[in-house]
Amino acid sequence: MRILVLSDLHANVTALDAVLEAAQGRWEQSVCLGDVVGYGPDPNEVTARLRKLGTQTIRGNHDKAVAGVMPTDDFNPVAKAAVDWTRAQLTPEHLSWLAALPPGPLATDGIVLVHGAFQDEDEYVFTPAQALDGLLDSTAEVTFFGHTHHQGGFSYQDSRLEVLQIHPRPTESFAALRIEAPRRYLLNPGSIGQPRDGDPRAAFAIADLDHQTVEFWRVSYDISSVQERMRQARLPEPLVQRLMLGR
Ligand code: ZN
Repeated sequence: MRILVLSDLHANVTALDAVLEAAQGRWEQSVCLGDVVGYGPDPNEVTARLRKLGTQTIRGNHDKAVAGVMPTDDFNPVAKAAVDWTRAQLTPEHLSWLAALPPGPLATDGIVLVHGAFQDEDEYVFTPAQALDGLLDSTAEVTFFGHTHHQGGFSYQDSRLEVLQIHPRPTESFAALRIEAPRRYLLNPGSIGQPRDGDPRAAFAIADLDHQTVEFWRVSYDISSVQERMRQARLPEPLVQRLMLGR
């Protein structure tokens, strides 16, 4: 089965629609690693898309903060302003859907989903040392994580941990990774709504474990139209700027 892996959508429906169009006909099941909302201008639209698709979704820290499941004490002022704005926009129905999202790790369709680190959903996984727990403790060979907004990941076999540098070039739509059992993988599809790895294109992945491949995709979208909606909504300017930079 081909699984569409979405993460860190951050209320950017223009980016999500570009992703769904690029992925059309290439997947049977969809999953989401959290941060459905927060930062972007379209929280209701993005939540509605996922609910309509029936996407198996775990919660991210922004979803928790917006839904009041978690305090925003640890959020910087810009992120907190976006949380407050988002909460005021969301319909009661979408808010309760976000509040009820399960935490990771969640096993589904032969893979495991986490938002941040395997042992702590709010922790970032940037380094091999931070990736080790997930690689060793996950119940599946392939685990997907988000939260950092960096596409790529790690693999582990025979006490050796490898950093996987997987980025489609600017002229390419995707780069494929071959999954080699019994090697273990901790993979980040990248962020749809707010990439931070230097490539402003929306990022996602398609996993086809029957054929031992994971494709890491990038797709361009109309960033300036999203920036215009963010300015109309008076969302903080640094959040508007970073979409074009991909940082
Ligand atoms: Zn995020």
